[in-house]
Amino acid sequence: MGIRYNITMDWSGENTLRYSRNLLVEELGERGQERLFGSSVLVVGAGGLGSPALLYLAAAGIGRIGVIDFDRLEITNLNRQVIHPYASLGRWKADSAADTLRAFRPDLAVEAYPRALKAENAVALFRQYDAVVDACDNFPTKYLCNDAAVVARRPLVHAGVLRFGGQLLVVVPGQGPCLRCLIPEIPPRKDAPGCSEAGIVGAAAGIVGAWQAMEAIKLLAGIGPSAKGRLLTVDALAGEATRLAVARDPSCPSCGDRPRIAEPLSPADYLQERSCNA
Ligand SMILES: [Zn+2]
Repeated sequence: MGIRYNITMDWSGENTLRYSRNLLVEELGERGQERLFGSSVLVVGAGGLGSPALLYLAAAGIGRIGVIDFDRLEITNLNRQVIHPYASLGRWKADSAADTLRAFRPDLAVEAYPRALKAENAVALFRQYDAVVDACDNFPTKYLCNDAAVVARRPLVHAGVLRFGGQLLVVVPGQGPCLRCLIPEIPPRKDAPGCSEAGIVGAAAGIVGAWQAMEAIKLLAGIGPSAKGRLLTVDALAGEATRLAVARDPSCPSCGDRPRIAEPLSPADYLQERSCNA
């Protein structure tokens, strides 16, 4: 996976205490903690999934975190986007989230990108990080994340959430299936409503976003079996989580044996692609 552990953990200050409960976890220990401190994550979206994912990644001791979001904070976001204080209404979410993370962990290297993820910037941006968390809220950007992660060869923790639950898939390029192996084309709008249409209970985003942070932490610390190749489905109303094996599709346009997607497309082009294939 090519993770560069290039930040040295400073054990002389308060870090021994700050991460003492992590260190007690046998699977993680000092070695895992140093790996987390030396690794970097990019989170795409500072909304319902990104809020818990960013907070728990920072709390775990990840050394460098990037957050990209093109939106400004609105009052309708506040039932679930818990990284933002009320005073951030009207601010860029990327900047607001970065400020919360800096206050939470002054030693954290945070990079805020208050702009849209596009085909022109996605691969280069992904290559600046060891792993990517897809915490965005729309299918075109999710496909962009997937294709850019495959091209950049960066592990991607994909998730989506709505109403009381959501789904999660870890994509490790070269080692398992990608999002397109599971859903080859973007679903029609009527089959994929957003939060503004179907609603969402904030705690559901909290569960799935925290699970995304957990999978990223496992990948970066090199511990545990990852969820790659398994679709996790969480139904918080029923109080259930299930998993389903997903196979890599040799004819997948993104990660297949003869991929058609050499460079990712912009979200608008994905919509075009869908209409062409419809
Ligand atoms: Zn694929």
